[in-house]
This record gives sequence, structure tokens and C-alpha cells, in this order.
Amino acid sequence: CGIVGILGASPVAPLIVDALKRLEYRGYDSAGVATLEDGRLTRRRAEGKLRNLEAKLAEAPLKGHAGIGHTRWATHGRPTERNAHPHATERLAVVHNGIIENFRELRQKLEAEGAIFETETDTEVVARLVDRELARNADPETAISLVLPQLRGAFALAFLFDGEDDLLIGARQGAPLAVGYGDGEMYLGSDALALAPFTDTITYLEDGDWVVLSRKGASFRDAANRTVKRKRQKSAAGA
Ligand code: GLU
Repeated sequence: CGIVGILGASPVAPLIVDALKRLEYRGYDSAGVATLEDGRLTRRRAEGKLRNLEAKLAEAPLKGHAGIGHTRWATHGRPTERNAHPHATERLAVVHNGIIENFRELRQKLEAEGAIFETETDTEVVARLVDRELARNADPETAISLVLPQLRGAFALAFLFDGEDDLLIGARQGAPLAVGYGDGEMYLGSDALALAPFTDTITYLEDGDWVVLSRKGASFRDAANRTVKRKRQKSAAGA
């Protein structure tokens, strides 16, 4: 339902939660955040309101400077902590808005190959498909370029990779996603409103686009995997 990603210069978990609060008006049933702790993917997730997630973070803080977060409005799988995003393997974490319509076929195929699923969500197939490419030694960009064409439906996605402290990848197909530009920091958000506390300079992905972020900037690809230029604009969302 709500997506926020940050490549920052300080611990990002509190910033991600604050940004998700600005999307609360959309409604949600659970929430979660993943950051890199000394390079290793680490998650905190909770059922219910963001204050439940905040309580978990207060007990066991995340200090990573790169992270993704999500508020979920369940479409496939009950609104439990186990089904809350980010979904993760050892190699990557992903947050997702929308629906992967062909997830059942994809899941059956992966299970036939031996993949073990942990959740009831449509989203987890995305994590498992990307994980399979990374396990075959694809780099993250190549893995994403191989997986996106397999997905049907309307969705926005944000990925964080184990051991990659200066990388976020976002993808948009039928659900909005925006890139925000900071000073040595970069942002992803499903809504300009979520990015308003950080920056007023944004780029909306076009349908079928995906984007590779580092703290230095953003590189856009279209659905055919061509490098494309996308215009920056001043957000009217206000701080
Ligand atoms: N279809 C996904 C799920 O049920 C994402 C729902 C959303 O947009 O929050 O987990």
C-alpha cells in the first residue's frame, strides 16, 4: 500500500517510519522495515499500526543507512506479521504495492524446483525469483531485468540487497512510484507526499520503468531495458 526507500547518511529506520505515517490515510493492516546492519539484511515487522512497529524498533533499533519500508493492505494472505513486508531471502528484501496476478503459476514452478515459501502472499514469488537469479551469480541489476518481464499485474516494487549499502532498485507497472533527490541521499516513494519531508525534487517513473539508485543519483530503464532519461520536477506535495 505504501512504499518508502532511503539511501541515507544516518540511520534510516526512523525516517522511513515517519514517511510511512504520511501515507497512513490510505489505510493498512501491518508494516515493516528492512535495513542493512553492518551490510546484512535485517527486518522488523508488526501487525497493526505503525506504533507497533515503532515499539519493536525501540526495543531492537536498526542502525543501517540504507533501507526500505512498507505499510500493507493485504490482498493475498492474512494480515499477519509473517505476511507483512518486507519479504526477504538471505540475498534481498522487497516491498510491494498491488498484485502479482500470475503468482500461483510462478510459485508452483519455483516449488517444483525446490523453493520453500514462508508466506501466503503474492509478493514472495518476486523475492524467490530474484533470489534464484542472484544464486546463479547474476548481479542485482541483471537479476531484476530477468524477473520483471515474468510478472503480470499492477504493482510497484522496491528492492534492497544484502551487502549492497549503496543500491536500491525500484520498479513501476500500473502503480505509482517516485524517485526523490537529496544532497548525497536518494529516496523512493509510492507517493510524493511520503518524500515531502526529505526533498521537493522528484521524478515519477513512467509505466514499465525501473530505476537503479545510488547516493549519487538515479539511472532509469524502460520496459524494454533501454536506458532512458526522465525529467525531474518540483513536487507540489509540500513539507
Ligand atoms: N499484494 C500484496 C500483499 O497482499 C501487497 C498489498 C499492498 O499493496 O499493500 O501482500
